Amino acid sequence: MQLTERQKEIVEIIKKYGPVTGEEIAKMIYITRSALRTDFSILKKMSIIKSKQKIGYTYNQAFIDSNNKTLVKHIMSAPITIDESYSVYKTVLLMFEKDIGTIFITKEGNLAGIVSRKDLLRIAIGKRDIEQIPINLIMTRMPNLVFSIENETIEDSIKKIIEHQIDSLPVVRITEKNGKEIYKVVGRFTKTNASRLLLDILSNKNKEKSEVTL
Ligand code: ADP
Repeated sequence: MQLTERQKEIVEIIKKYGPVTGEEIAKMIYITRSALRTDFSILKKMSIIKSKQKIGYTYNQAFIDSNNKTLVKHIMSAPITIDESYSVYKTVLLMFEKDIGTIFITKEGNLAGIVSRKDLLRIAIGKRDIEQIPINLIMTRMPNLVFSIENETIEDSIKKIIEHQIDSLPVVRITEKNGKEIYKVVGRFTKTNASRLLLDILSNKNKEKSEVTL
């Protein structure tokens, strides 16, 4: 089903300002709240927006259509990062504490490396004193890191995960400081993020199928 111009406008507002109330949206597009009731109802039924009492409307990040691509930054998780001076031992503890399979390592705020479960197991079975070994000795480092940029499409990131047979990608925002590029870690894109998105899409599709014509 095609959205009307007004519905597209509402979606754009919710994407930009959400959570935003129906009253606020009505003011922004100079239409009364009651005249928008049907539009809100259609957008909700199509799972493009969600509404929460007393909070307002938010965009359903899982919704994808041809003009409106979901990007990595919309569905990424929070990253767990540590400084390169961390010991291997402390990194193992952190991995358990955060229940996470990959940890990103930064140097002066810049993405410098990655360690995964297997990297830590490998060093742990070597019977070395892992309290004394800094994580930067065993991490996979730049320029061998595979990462996403926050505005990249989900397809591109999934391709990287598959091609390189890895579990997760650091998501970076590239900025410049004193003529040098800085790769600030802003997120983590994992196989779980991709699976959740797929599940949302499949559930939405099934819901649409079972709905009577709007
Ligand atoms: P696991 O070790 O739990 O199987 P991965 O398959 O993600 O986890 O990692 C396999 C190897 O690839 C490890 O040596 C790890 O350091 C490296 N690695 C993981 N993620 C990346 C990445 N995004 N870019 C480059 N190397 C990575």
